[in-house]
Amino acid sequence: MRFSTDSTTINCPYCGEDFELVIDTGEEEQHYIEDCYVCCQPIHLSVWLAGEEPLVVARHENEC
Ligand SMILES: [Zn+2]
Repeated sequence: MRFSTDSTTINCPYCGEDFELVIDTGEEEQHYIEDCYVCCQPIHLSVWLAGEEPLVVARHENEC
């Protein structure tokens, strides 16, 4: 059975801290803003669920 959510560790592009990100696996491709849990800066996240492991890219908000 596949879970409807997954989680991965991402690296904040502002403060460099690692934190756990919970991914909704209902969409194969997602782009959204998530505030860093550590420094509260808005991180632009791109998520692709093409394979077994989710591919997550975290960027500054103004880089996209
Ligand atoms: Zn941060």
